[in-house]
Amino acid sequence: MNEKAPIPFLDLTRQQARLGAPLRERIDAVLAHCKFVMGPEVEELEDRLCAYSGAAHAVSVSSGTDALLMVLMAEEVGPGDAVFLPAFTYTATAEVVLLLGATPVFVDVEPATFQIDPANLTERIASIRAQGELEPRVIIGVDLFGQPAPWESLRRIAAADDLVLMADCAQAFGASLEGRKLGCEALATTLSFFPSKPLGGYGDGGAILTDDPERAALYRSLRSHGEGRTRYEVLRIGLNGRLDTLQAAVLLAKLDRFDEELMRRDAIARVYDEALSGLVTTPHRVPQSESAWAIYSILLPDAEKRDALQAYLGTQGVPSVVYYPKPLHEQPAYSEHHDESVSLAVSERLGSQILALPLHPELTDEEVARVVSAVKAFFAQGQAA
Ligand SMILES: *Cc1c(COP(=O)(O)O)cnc(C)c1O
Repeated sequence: MNEKAPIPFLDLTRQQARLGAPLRERIDAVLAHCKFVMGPEVEELEDRLCAYSGAAHAVSVSSGTDALLMVLMAEEVGPGDAVFLPAFTYTATAEVVLLLGATPVFVDVEPATFQIDPANLTERIASIRAQGELEPRVIIGVDLFGQPAPWESLRRIAAADDLVLMADCAQAFGASLEGRKLGCEALATTLSFFPSKPLGGYGDGGAILTDDPERAALYRSLRSHGEGRTRYEVLRIGLNGRLDTLQAAVLLAKLDRFDEELMRRDAIARVYDEALSGLVTTPHRVPQSESAWAIYSILLPDAEKRDALQAYLGTQGVPSVVYYPKPLHEQPAYSEHHDESVSLAVSERLGSQILALPLHPELTDEEVARVVSAVKAFFAQGQAA
C-alpha cells in the first residue's frame, strides 16, 4: 500500500457504500412515484427532524442560507435594522442580512471555544443603541464547528433587550447541550444539509425548526412563494425555497445511521485530542455539551507555524483546511459595513492560527493514525532542525 495515498477530507463515495441498499431503495421509491416536489418523503423527513430534535415543527427548505433568509423575512427585518452575529462564521450567516437591506453588526468570539462572546455582544448592542442610527432587532447565534453557542447567555441578552434570537445550527445538528439535542434553543433554528455538514444530503437542502406554530405556518408560506391556503392565493412575497423530494429521501436514509456517525466522529476527535494535546491546542469543549464534530480545528502559535504544518501535512497526503482565513468584517463584501475603530481581536487572530484536520465517519483507524503521526513527525522534525 502506498503510504502517501491522500486521505480524503470528505468521502461521499465510501459513505454511499456504507449506506448501501437502503439509500438506493429510498431514491428508487422517489423515481417510482415521481412526486419530485413536495413528495411524501418531505413530510416524513420533517416528522423525523421533529422527533430527533424535540422541536414541535420542522419546515424543510432549499438550503441553510434560504432557511436563514426566511426566518429574517418572517420577522420583517429590513433597512434600518441591526442584526448581531459573530464575525467568525461562514458568509451565509451575514449575507442574508444584507440581502434584506438590514445591517450586520459583527461581534467577537471567545478564544477557547470560537463561539460568540456574550460580553462583546452586550457591548455591541449598547453601542448601536447609543449611536441611535439602527434599531437592534435580531441576534443570530451560530453553533460553530459543531459545538453549541452560549445559549443561556444569548437568551438572557435577547430577553433583556427585546431582540429576536435565532440559531444558525448549520454545522451542529446532532449536537447536544445539557443532555438535550440542539433545535429548541431559540425562536427558530436553521439547519443545512449541504453534503459536508454532519447531516449532509447529496445536494443542497436545509430546514427550520421552531416550537411556534404561527412561525412554522409563515415559513411554509414563505418557502412556497408566499402562498395561502391554495397555490394561487398569494399572501406575501416569498421564494421558491422548497427541499427536493430526492434530497428528503437521501436524508431519511442517512438519518437512520446518523447517531452511529456522530459516535464515530466523537471517537476520532478523542483520538486526536489525546495524541495531539501536548503539541497543539486541541478544541476546547463547550461545558455540558456533545459536539456534532462538523469541523475539528486545532490552533498553532502563529501563521508561520500553521502554514508550515499545513504544507508538511500536504506532503504526507493529509489534507487540512483553514476555516476561516479572515473574519467577515475584514472581507471586501462586508468591510464597508463595519466600523473600523471597533476591533474584534480574537476573530482577527484566529484566522492565522487555526487549522482543521480531517474528521468524518468514513475515516479508518489507520487513516486517523496517519494524521496523528504526520502531525507528530512535523513537530519532531522541528525539534531536530
Ligand atoms: C453551511 C453554512 C450555512 C449555509 O448553508 P447552505 O446549506 O450551504 O446554504 C450557514 N451558516 C453556516 C454557519 C454554515 O456553515
